[in-house]
Amino acid sequence: MTTLLANDSIQDRCRAIAGRVDAAAAAAGHPVRLVAVGKTRPAADLRAAHAAGLAAFGENYVQEALGKQRELADLALEWHLIGPLQSNKCREVARHFDWLQSLDRAKLVGLLARERATTGKPPLAVLVQVNIDDETSKSGCRPEQVDALAEAVAAEPALALRGLMAIPAPDPDLDRRRIAFRRMRDLFDALRRRYPGVDTLSMGMSEDFELAIAEGATLVRVGSRLFGARG
Ligand SMILES: *Cc1c(COP(=O)(O)O)cnc(C)c1O
Repeated sequence: MTTLLANDSIQDRCRAIAGRVDAAAAAAGHPVRLVAVGKTRPAADLRAAHAAGLAAFGENYVQEALGKQRELADLALEWHLIGPLQSNKCREVARHFDWLQSLDRAKLVGLLARERATTGKPPLAVLVQVNIDDETSKSGCRPEQVDALAEAVAAEPALALRGLMAIPAPDPDLDRRRIAFRRMRDLFDALRRRYPGVDTLSMGMSEDFELAIAEGATLVRVGSRLFGARG
């Protein structure tokens, strides 16, 4: 079941959430970017979000994203891949996205860099996805693998190492989520000391973006709070 919201209601939600993100950012003392997660949502919903001032969109599936990019080609949008990346999709991602938030293995780095170099576009912004506390999830590298992956990305002129991304386990206990956010913050601070271009810690979703910002997130990925619950 999909809950479809009227466009004006999407716009109201986008303005309200953007205001909450800004307030949390002001309280935390650092800027925070809001990426609207549009998976399963039609292009018209993203267009409504754009009308409310949002310009960065996160998508989980490459083919779905490419369709929306075609429908929204008249708008100046920034596209983030936030879902797992298979090697056979590296070409499309290097060509059609601005950010890859879900890099989790070294094998993809060369493929992405080679392809990006042929596009004439600025370097692809890359976040290394870390599996911070979820043993059951297959996405994300282990914390001890971050250094090697970061080094591989930083060595490629066609890629820009910008930081880290995590999807902590959706633990109803907020204290346990806070612990995961803090571990990410520590990894991020260590990375930032080594690479001057690193400025982005992507964590926090609809249910916990304010907590994530308080713990140091500089980018939050929000879907259902903007577009309504997914079916
Ligand atoms: C779906 C998704 C989100 C947004 O989740 P909501 O709870 O709807 O805000 C954020 N990040 C990733 C990686 C996702 O897959």
